[in-house]
Order: sequence, then structure tokens, then C-alpha cells
Amino acid sequence: MTELAALKKFSARVGADPLLVQAAGGNTSLKQSGVMWIKASGTWLRDANSRDIFVPVRHEALLAALARNDPACEACTDFVLADLNATGLRPSIETTMHALMPQRVVVHVHCVNTIAWAIRGDAEQRLAEKLKDFNWAFIPYARPGLPLANAIAARLKPGTDVLVLGNHGLVVAAKTVVEAETILDRVVNVLLRPVRALVPPDLAALHLLCKGTDYAPAGNDETHALATDALALESGKNAVFYPDHVVFLGVGVATEVGSGAPLVAAPGKGVLIRGNAKPAVEPMGRCLADVMRRVEADDPLTALDSEAIGRLVNWDAEKYRQGLNVGV
Ligand SMILES: [Zn+2]
Repeated sequence: MTELAALKKFSARVGADPLLVQAAGGNTSLKQSGVMWIKASGTWLRDANSRDIFVPVRHEALLAALARNDPACEACTDFVLADLNATGLRPSIETTMHALMPQRVVVHVHCVNTIAWAIRGDAEQRLAEKLKDFNWAFIPYARPGLPLANAIAARLKPGTDVLVLGNHGLVVAAKTVVEAETILDRVVNVLLRPVRALVPPDLAALHLLCKGTDYAPAGNDETHALATDALALESGKNAVFYPDHVVFLGVGVATEVGSGAPLVAAPGKGVLIRGNAKPAVEPMGRCLADVMRRVEADDPLTALDSEAIGRLVNWDAEKYRQGLNVGV
């Protein structure tokens, strides 16, 4: 099997695990012969084996542009090798992060257990104990794209192969896909958090709420926890802890069907999804509940402020990703 084929297989495995990747979140890459193959923006890692979701970019040219803080590094479309890019898709909005890591294989996931640590104000200190056996770095929150690339460059040391991105997720890098898989599994194991038991939904009550609307109850109990777990509901309504939350669910999860929102968390009853909601909505709702079931009420959490949220939702490359993410 070629290394790119191995990466696709690994990507599909990671993409099918909702505790690691949700919808179009997360991305993987491989550098070979001067070309970096990176997941396309808006595509789902889960589909890596069944459709062409990797885009070739010129690695050296991208690194040179990054070094001069070139705004072309925001969308990275200028660095795509058009002749090799069969699908015509754009590279991931997190391409610069992959380019900066010198290792051949880079894997970035929105690991639920990692995020439950990474949203704490004391994340760096707490993780220092947990990850003492790893060559790792903590990267304080920065908007994905150029700001995040610059934040990583400031903390990257030779040999660093694990990054925890504050209020965001996890990056693992290695020489081969097999090594990346091993490191990822080890890190995730070390960062496992106790998880609160699921409170099942009140399906009868949900069906009543749906009557005469185009809403239907969410498909699994993990998603319903966004409405049945008090801490998850509270956080969903009042705080934004990581980028994909606000990008896909907006600020403040809706609690009433009358809101017309794609996702409604009916307090104590469960979650409803609107018929024409994008396919990313339910996985993102579940992710938020999965993260919040791994934190406690007295954990010192740090939410994104309104300025950080504004920079995310007004970013052109991010608008493209959302527009494309109609589900496949
Ligand atoms: Zn990310």
C-alpha cells in the first residue's frame, strides 16, 4: 500500500469516530516529493476511502509565503498544483498548520477528550503533567489560518510532534502513517476524561413538540444530552468554547422550536433537528454535549470572547467551507 493510500485508510478510521472528528472538522496530510496532500476544505475525513478528498499543494512555496506572512496563506489556493488537483477543491482552512510541521504525516483532530482539557484556563499546566512523556507544545488559542500558524511557529521546537491547540483540538505528526496512528492513540489514552452518564431523552415529549413542524428528534442519545445534561445545556446556551461550535451551531443554542434554528435543545427533553439542517449540525451538537459531559461545574473553563467569535464567523475561507458543507 502506498503511504497516501495508508493515510486515506487511517483518515477514514479517524473520521468515523465521533470522539475524534465531527463532520467536516479535522484534517490529515502527507508530504512527498515536494507536494503536500491535504484534506480539502468542507469535505469529511470519514469519506477519505470512498471519494477523492485530498488536494496537492506546493510545500516549499507555501512555507516561503508563510515566512513573509503573505495573506495568500489564508485560503492557500495560490499554492494548489492545478494539474494534479482532479476535483478542483480548495485545500483545508488549516493547511498552513500542516505545512509548518516538518514531519511527513500530520493528523489534526477535534478530539473530545482533548478539547475538554483545552478549554480550561489552566490547560497548559494540567497537560504538562499528563503529557510529560511526549515531545509536545501547548498553543494558546488563535484563529485558524495565519494567526494559528504564527502561534504555532512561535512555540514549535525541533522534534515537537504533538500540539494541543487551546480551545480547539489536537495535532500529531510523524514520519509515517503507522507512527502517527500510534502517537495519536497514546495521547488520546492519556487524555481520557471521566464521562457523566447519559440522561435519556423524553421522546414522547419531543414528538409532541415536533407535531406540525419540520423538526424530528435527534438520532442518538449522545446528541440529546445537549438538552438533558444540565451542564451541557447551560454551556450551549451561554458560551462558545471552540471554533466549530460557533461556526456550525451559532452563538447560543436555541431552546424553542419557534426559533426556527437548525438545532433546538428542548431543556430536559432532548434535541430536535430541523428537516433541512445541514448534515454537520447533529454531529456538532453531539460534539458539544460529548465535551461538556467530560467537564465538571467547577472546572475553570475559558470561553472564546466576542472578538474571537467575530473573527471566526467573518473569515472568508470559513464562509467557503460552510457553503460547501452541504453533505455528501
Ligand atoms: Zn481544527
